[in-house]
Amino acid sequence: MKAYDVLVIGAGPGGYVAAIRCAQLGLTTACVERWTDADNNPALGGTCLNVGCIPSKALLDSSHHYHNLGHLLPKHGIAIQGATIDVGAMQARKDKIVETLTRGIGSLFKKNKVDALYGTARFAAEKTVEVVDATGNVTETVTASNIIIATGSVPVAIGAAPTDGKSIVDSEGALAFTEVPKRLGIIGAGVIGLELGSVWSRLGADVVILEAMDDFLATADRDVAKEASRVFKRQGLDIRLGCRVTGSEVRASGDVAITYADKSGEQHLDVDKLIVAVGRRAYADGLQPERAGIKTDERGRIEADAQCRTSVAGIYAIGDVIHGPMLAHKASEEGICVAESIAGQQPTFDHRTCPWVIYTHPEIAWVGQTEAELTAAGVSYNVGKFPFSASGRAQGAGETGGFVKILADGKSDQILGVHIIGAQASEMIAEAVTSMAYFGSAEDLARTVHAHPTLSEAMHEAALAVDKRTIHI
Ligand code: FAD
Ligand code: AMP
Repeated sequence: MKAYDVLVIGAGPGGYVAAIRCAQLGLTTACVERWTDADNNPALGGTCLNVGCIPSKALLDSSHHYHNLGHLLPKHGIAIQGATIDVGAMQARKDKIVETLTRGIGSLFKKNKVDALYGTARFAAEKTVEVVDATGNVTETVTASNIIIATGSVPVAIGAAPTDGKSIVDSEGALAFTEVPKRLGIIGAGVIGLELGSVWSRLGADVVILEAMDDFLATADRDVAKEASRVFKRQGLDIRLGCRVTGSEVRASGDVAITYADKSGEQHLDVDKLIVAVGRRAYADGLQPERAGIKTDERGRIEADAQCRTSVAGIYAIGDVIHGPMLAHKASEEGICVAESIAGQQPTFDHRTCPWVIYTHPEIAWVGQTEAELTAAGVSYNVGKFPFSASGRAQGAGETGGFVKILADGKSDQILGVHIIGAQASEMIAEAVTSMAYFGSAEDLARTVHAHPTLSEAMHEAALAVDKRTIHI
């Protein structure tokens, strides 16, 4: 039986980062992973690298370039006739990126002396884990003084639209379409639904997104959600709010007949493909945490405190399998903090400054609180807003949609939230995160020199706008 200081279960952005950090700190470390690729080879990287963040962004970039040929380039005087999209080549490029990055983690494990164990982990006792192969045989039994559970999440399935891997798919299937569906239905206007809808819509699909809630992007700032709804509609995304999908049928032709309810009653929609993007659920199936005495909650998540400690001393849980936002960088930061705690350090993870990004075009990014949250909490605040239409760089780039909005404490001027919709919002939000991490004020940002001409000047101007002294508007 092998014994380690730390055993990490799951090699997604939570688990693989935790394992590398543990090894850097001198702890003997192994990481168990069950994922296999299309050729049945073991693959590290979890949801994020295999079927999440990375492949979706690769397809978003490809489809963005294709879309620009017809929409942005003509404005620059560049005309391209007869542009075509080779979906096979686009998918092969994406697959290559995934392969490079997942293999890269294998190299990082070797370099850092993390032992990769391939198979499914299950608890046999408190600090003892069995590794089981695809046929159900135990290939290894491992003990560890500390165990980090990082088993992630899987798509939520709904009875109204069971996936068949062909006509009705989840996000994983939607990243692997071999042709552009003519009519595409999507259930759920959350981050994943909007990103996948953008990809296939830009490539020519007629996309209808059915969303049960009446509010669009309910967790985002209302101004941002309003602007996003306007822009996405103009892009041709047919987003229908207050529409709950109640049933679906795959016809002999492969088409899908969808039934949904809105305020007028029962409605019908026929599509060629249907993507189910109604959220993700924590995944600990088959792990048998109860054998170690680890508690789970009513949603199947591993119970963990703010330091990611489970109900059993020396056993931690991080990432999508616990409470909090299902984001790769949240999983990684928790992994680093747990590794450092095991090594005797006292790290902190400031959840207040965890950014959110939606990689549509324009992109949407935010950090901290929204106006609605501040109002509900009775906090007085000032708003500074600056539109990209007034930015010279945005004009030059033809990317004039959207704005930066800063919310600063009414008394102290401390930045409490920053909300961006615009090109490169995902990159620009980092400045806001850093400012908030240092408890910066709007005045601090207003006194910070920003290179000209850049999109980030909009952040500077929004900070000036908090004190009503913006220059360019
Ligand atoms: P995961 O990445 O899910 O990894 C868990 C790993 O554990 C898996 O590899 C699984 O095989 C393994 N495992 C599970 N059980 C066992 C077991 N018993 N034994 C051995 N191994 C096991 N987040 C972002 O921050 N930015 C984005 O742009 C973004 N885009 C996304 C796009 C899509 C389409 C999807 C689906 C998700 C996206 N996410 C994004 C979310 C992000 O992928 C997750 O938040 C992140 O992967 C969570 O990391 P994790 O390590 O907790 O879990
Ligand atoms: P997210 O959790 O951000 O990925 O978003 C998933 C979205 O799917 C949520 O906004 C849900 O309201 C929506 N949703 C869940 N079930 C249904 C359903 N049956 N019909 C339409 N939308 C749904």
